[in-house]
Amino acid sequence: MGKRSVLYRYLSNRFILFSGSSKRREVFLTFDDGPFPENTGIILDTLKKYDVKATFFLSGGSVVNDFKTVERIIQEGHDAGNHFFDHKRIDRISYRELSQQILSCEKTLLECGARQVDFIRPPYGTINVNLLRYCLANKKRLIMWSYDCKDTFIKSEDEIECFKKKFTIEPGEIFLLHDDSMYIKDMLEWIIREARGRGLSFSKISEL
Ligand SMILES: [Zn+2]
Repeated sequence: MGKRSVLYRYLSNRFILFSGSSKRREVFLTFDDGPFPENTGIILDTLKKYDVKATFFLSGGSVVNDFKTVERIIQEGHDAGNHFFDHKRIDRISYRELSQQILSCEKTLLECGARQVDFIRPPYGTINVNLLRYCLANKKRLIMWSYDCKDTFIKSEDEIECFKKKFTIEPGEIFLLHDDSMYIKDMLEWIIREARGRGLSFSKISEL
């Protein structure tokens, strides 16, 4: 085993997660960029209807405009994770600015009653040395994904049919979705049905 793979395994076990265990019959739904009052509400209604728990990576700047929706996320038993305050590209900001982005978002989440705020999903999925340094120093975990639903690009019935045709699911899968997608309800119900049809249940990142 080369040096690189040892480092990768060390990091992926402790600080960066791309998927759950393939040995457990569970998968994970994650929603980025919220809250969006209307769409996040639709997602929460759907999750409630199917009794599914999920993880929301929220933007602090949107949280301060919609505390109510975030409080609902938390009250209904979902995880609220950190997606920075302004969704800034981390390769364009200093270490100090990066820390401020994470801390300000964390502050808004705590104000909404979040208990688990140690999960970070960087905007655009970008990882760099500053971010790793921050996570190591502050005991945060980076939560990435194994399945990008590319949901924000789905804007027609044809595209949603194409998504369904290509859809696959494996134990441990972490799905990347976004609160503001046009067909989020349809996609969500599809993923839930497919997972359950294969005997897979849904867990939150904090249950990992
Ligand atoms: Zn994002």
